Amino acid sequence: MRVLILGGTTEASALARLLAGDVRFEATLSLAGRTSAPSPQPIATRVGGFGGAEGLARFLSEQQIDAMIDATHPYAARISANAVAACHKAGVPLASLVRPAWAPQPGDAWQNVPTAVAAALALGKTPRRVFLSLGRQELHFFAAFPQHHYIARLIEPPQQTALPHGLVLLQQRGPFDTDAELRLLRERKIDVIVSRNSGGSATYPKIEAARALRLPVIMIARRAKPVGRVVMSAEAAVAWLAHGAPRSLRGV
Ligand code: NAP
Repeated sequence: MRVLILGGTTEASALARLLAGDVRFEATLSLAGRTSAPSPQPIATRVGGFGGAEGLARFLSEQQIDAMIDATHPYAARISANAVAACHKAGVPLASLVRPAWAPQPGDAWQNVPTAVAAALALGKTPRRVFLSLGRQELHFFAAFPQHHYIARLIEPPQQTALPHGLVLLQQRGPFDTDAELRLLRERKIDVIVSRNSGGSATYPKIEAARALRLPVIMIARRAKPVGRVVMSAEAAVAWLAHGAPRSLRGV
């Protein structure tokens, strides 16, 4: 069975590892190309956009893909919409590997907001020391609120010029651990965190550290994104491929 995985996440890499050792599948992992040195993968990899839903549908047909797994990040909405449209057009079954969102625990002080702009507004007028844990495309919103001091953590430096004045950039890739997160928040004298509700364990330690230090977290909520058949783990995705995926409708 020829499988295309839309990736760029821990779950996509876990699925790639499972499929690599399984003779039933011939899998390719697709990456957007946002990071210049992605982690090495045990299966064939292709990099770069497809050219919208049309381009992805063409790719599925040309490569004779039998099933697709959308294992992209919860905040990557456009590619998931393209995945649904392209699979419909090409007659290819689609499963979406969905990472459950974090839920607040006793001791958490979250303020849920709908967007990064709302998060920037929620910081208020009084100067604060802010730890930004979000996408690099969202940093520029905070430039309009220069009263705050910002520290952002990203895998790669941002390309855009409209960055918050005096932004301190920490170039690091997860997973992170709670002790290191506690040290970071204390040493940088952070008094509020802005985060996406990414889910998963790799970036959760900052939430645990915030709880321990009684720091507020401004949490940018997820927006629903289009999905195929929902699966919750890499193992469940393999089970769907092996038993649940309807045969490809291509050519029917
Ligand atoms: P997006 O806004 O949903 O997608 C923008 C465009 O990037 C898509 O229309 C597509 O281009 C291309 N693209 C996205 N994912 C792709 C993939 N896996 N393979 C090939 N092309 C892809 O996505 P994004 O928020 O920029 O995220 C880009 C990638 O980074 C995703 O694969 C995601 O899993 C990963 N990632 C994102 C975040 C995040 O915070 N958003 C965090 C960690 C990892 P075409 O229309 O030309 O096909």
